[in-house]
Amino acid sequence: MQAIKKYLAPVTIFAVFEVIAVALWLTKDNLFYFFNFSYIGISISLGIFMFIRKNRYARRITQLLVGLYMLIYLGLICGENMQIEGFWYYLFTGVFEAATIHYAVAKIFGPLLFGRGWCGYACWTAMVLDFLPYKTPQKPGKTIGWIRYITFTASLIFVAALFLAKAGNIEKIMFWAFIIGNFAYYSVGITMAFLLKDNRAFCKYICPVAVFLKPMSYFSLIRIKCDKSKCVSCGKCGKVCPMGVDVTDNSRKRKNGTECILCMECVKNCPKNAL
Ligand code: SF4
Ligand code: SF4
Ligand code: SF4
Repeated sequence: MQAIKKYLAPVTIFAVFEVIAVALWLTKDNLFYFFNFSYIGISISLGIFMFIRKNRYARRITQLLVGLYMLIYLGLICGENMQIEGFWYYLFTGVFEAATIHYAVAKIFGPLLFGRGWCGYACWTAMVLDFLPYKTPQKPGKTIGWIRYITFTASLIFVAALFLAKAGNIEKIMFWAFIIGNFAYYSVGITMAFLLKDNRAFCKYICPVAVFLKPMSYFSLIRIKCDKSKCVSCGKCGKVCPMGVDVTDNSRKRKNGTECILCMECVKNCPKNAL
């Protein structure tokens, strides 16, 4: 009974992904969805299982399993543009496929349940950025988050222009947009991490996907909460947080609340088990 309770979270996550996998397989009559969502569900459940077993690399292993699969298999081998422009592309064509499903599950409706879990456990851009040396910001944060609205609008205009210009071979353009887009994300992300001494600077200021993620994760069901009766205000959680979240404040309006990537660094480091 104890063991069931202990491992309820990974089992539940696995079950949720299996429901999605089977539902999409049957409704879309495509076995790919079954394998795709089963693989992602297994990877995430494995990470949570390892976290419960106190494995310090649990999150990174899940991030690499999902991130590499999406970048190399789905993106480069299958030629699916899973970036934001791929989402616009499928949305404009009115097809509920690949990037639209991915965005719906991971970045638009999913965050109502698991917040920015995508950013902590699956994103292939952050998968690389998290290898850099500035795990926590070494400089005060900047007020340049408005840049993400520019990159968001630019991606929308880019795809809209392709449709308006009736560009031929749009699938091929999307494939190359994926390659060039990723190259740009990694280049800008790594440069910003070193300039601002913060691995996650790209996430905080540039990433267009955060335009979806932030407002949706505000309502997230799963969030880190602080047991005030245990907290001794030592400030350790703030020091280890890569996203500058004031996790001791339980309100939804807490400082940088919509930046939380559920990485669990604060939980692991709280000396009083208050989180
Ligand atoms: S903010 Fe963007 S780049 Fe950063 S982890 Fe989330 S989706 Fe990836
Ligand atoms: S690390 Fe724990 S005890 Fe210290 S301030 Fe954070 S929640 Fe409170
Ligand atoms: S350290 Fe805690 S508050 Fe900060 S991003 Fe990770 S889980 Fe969220």
